[in-house]
This record gives sequence, C-alpha cells and structure tokens, in this order.
Amino acid sequence: MTHPATFAQLDPPSRLLMGAGPTNVHPRILRAMSYDVIGQMDPEMTAYMDEVMALYREVFRTKNHWTLLVNGSARSAIEAALVSLVSPGMKVVIPRFGRFGLLLTEIVHRCGGIPCTVDVEWGQVVDPAAIEAAIIEHKPGLVACVHGDTSTTTAQPLEEIGRICRKHDVLFYVDATATLGGMTFETDAWNIDVATAGLQKCLNGPPGSAPITLSERAVAAILKRRHDEAGIATGQAQGDGPVIQSNYFDLAMLMNYWSPARMNHHTEATSMLYAARETARLVVEEGVEARVARHVRAGRAMVAGLRAMGLKVYGDDATRMSNVTGVWVPEGVDNARIRQLMRDDFGIEIVSSFGPLTGKIWRIGAMGINARKDKVLLTLAAFDSVLAGEGVKLNRGAGVDAARAAWDAV
Ligand SMILES: *Cc1c(COP(=O)(O)O)cnc(C)c1O
Repeated sequence: MTHPATFAQLDPPSRLLMGAGPTNVHPRILRAMSYDVIGQMDPEMTAYMDEVMALYREVFRTKNHWTLLVNGSARSAIEAALVSLVSPGMKVVIPRFGRFGLLLTEIVHRCGGIPCTVDVEWGQVVDPAAIEAAIIEHKPGLVACVHGDTSTTTAQPLEEIGRICRKHDVLFYVDATATLGGMTFETDAWNIDVATAGLQKCLNGPPGSAPITLSERAVAAILKRRHDEAGIATGQAQGDGPVIQSNYFDLAMLMNYWSPARMNHHTEATSMLYAARETARLVVEEGVEARVARHVRAGRAMVAGLRAMGLKVYGDDATRMSNVTGVWVPEGVDNARIRQLMRDDFGIEIVSSFGPLTGKIWRIGAMGINARKDKVLLTLAAFDSVLAGEGVKLNRGAGVDAARAAWDAV
C-alpha cells in the first residue's frame, strides 16, 4: 500500500442507486451540507432546530410537539425509542415478518425487556387479531413494529394495530425508516405513539440523521421512568428508580436539549441537521401525498416491467412496498454475478436480501429522486441486457415497454 500522504482526493464513482437504500442524494441536500458549521447555541442554529421540528411534523403527519432528530443512522432512533421506552422486565409485543423485526427483538433484549414475538413467514404480514391476542396474553407495555420491512419488500398495515393498541392502552412504536415519504404514513390518524425514520430511503437524504416523533402518551411514559423531578430539570438522572440505560439515546435528555431551555447534551451534528432540514423542505414543497403517489407509480411501473420480461415478482401485490420490489432469481442464475454486471456495465446498484432470502431474490428500489420514469426505465433496460447476456430466457424489450405504458397509464 502507498503512503497515506499520497492517497488521492476522493472521487467516488457515479452510481444510480436502485437498491434498498441508500438512494442517491438530492443535490439541494448536498448543497445544504456544504455550508460551514455554527455553534449549537447560536440563535440561528436553534431557530433551525425549531424549523426542523415543524417540518418533520408535516412529514410524519402529526401534531406531536416532540418531533426531532437523533444523530446517527436510522438505527440510532430505533435504539433511542426502545431504550427510552422499555424498562427492564417490560414485555414488548413484536410482530415479525422480516429482518428488521429481528433487530427490534435484539434491541429490546439489550434494554432488558422481554420480547413476545408474533411471527409469520417472511413475505407475509401479521394478522392484527394475532397481535390483539398477544396483547391480551402478555399484557405488554409496548407493541413495536416495522412498517415496510425492506428485507421482504412487504409493508405491514398499521391502522388496525394502532386501534388495538389504543383500545388496550398499550404504547405503539413503529420503524418507518423504509417508507416515510414514499408510502402513506399517518402517525396521528393511525394512533402511533413513537415513529422513527432515517433519511436515506424515500427521503433521498444521506444516512446519518434519524427523525423521531413522540406522542404525549409516549413522553409521559418516558418521563415517568425518571422518578426525581430534579433529575428531569437538570437532565441528570437521579434517585434510585429505574433510569434509561443510555446517555446518548436518553430521549428525556434529548427533549431537554430540543426545548427552549436548550439543556446542553451532545454537539448537534450541524451538517446533518442542515441535510435533514433540506430533506423535509423538499418533501413539504412537493407535498406528502404527491410524493407518495410518485413512489406508487414508480413501483407499479417496476412491477409491470419485471412481469412483462417474464420474471416472477416476489411477495403479495396487496402488501407490497411501493418503493422496493423483490424479484425471484431464475433457476441456475448467479444472483451476485448479475448485480456485479449491473454495477460494472451500467453503474446501477441493485441488491440481494438476507436470511432465508439470501441469494434468492433481487431487490430493486425506486426511491426519492430515483422514483422517476427515466430511472425505472433505465434500470429495466439494463436488467434486460444483463440477464439476456447471461442466457436467461426473456421477452426482450417487453419490460421497458410495459413499464412505460404503466407509468403513463395514470
Ligand atoms: C434501511 C432500514 C433501516 C436502516 O437503519 P440504518 O441504521 O439507517 O442502517 C432500519 N429499519 C428499516 C425498516 C429499514 O428498511
């Protein structure tokens, strides 16, 4: 290896990211990140923080005052939500239909909670009646659920689960990382108490900032875990009651930090806050509903194209995510080799999946600025060429034509 002093200036390849995230970043967001930092207590900065709160209330479709950012990738907000809500010994009902349900289980374990899982085969969704039965059986403090599980390209319908949680007075947490800004997501209307996301999926921002929103019920539950009023006021946990087992992810402290009192906690990741602010501004400018409609259209075109080629689309049409489509790898075809050719010959990234689906499906996303007609058609054209080149029998050219027709048929 050469001496570090000789390393070249960064010049990353230009790729069309049509995988399951990250997706290409909108140029306006990249520009927002290029500004110099300012101090976190600068009135300009605290004004930006207040704007971020207002902007993400629109994105999450909520009136929740406590709508803020956790510094880190989407997982940081998942962890903040769970470590702040789950006290040791608390039961948590977790519907599982893909990889990210396993992640929730693991984090609940680490928090000392007791996961009570409701499992279905990957690609299916969980029957709300099974969740209600689990609530009655286990009397949990929380139901924790993924909305769109990118590993299976499947979205769990949430509205009925939200109603059930409210009826039984159980808090409801949702990981909306993969769907926020790309599928309909209604925090308040669906009775969701805490929802978290990241920027790098349908929001076409960079990974590294994680929006979160908290209902008053959730806030009350978090503050209740801190026995001592003085502890709340100083942001220092005191008393001998249970405390949140993380400093960085203690949402009570983060709320103090984002409150007018600006109780110092971490140094806000300034450049990521600029990015998150511009990300939400783009969503609000386009309109949440218009943005969702654009993703639905892209997903429909992708599915139509893949089917017209003669490929088998993974999963169930009724619960398919609009922004990531799974497609079965035909018999005898090497999943990894196709992905490599897509990247080498066309600069396009598509991905495989995990666990029981490793190597069995490809996942092709159309998210954020890539949920566009030209990107979908380019990807299908490249896929057609690469698969045909590897000897897969296809209806050549039919995929692009069908996707064009599907896109225009609105
Ligand atoms: C992509 C994704 C995440 C990613 O978390 P990161 O920490 O940003 O990698 C979490 N949950 C779901 C459902 C996802 O699709």
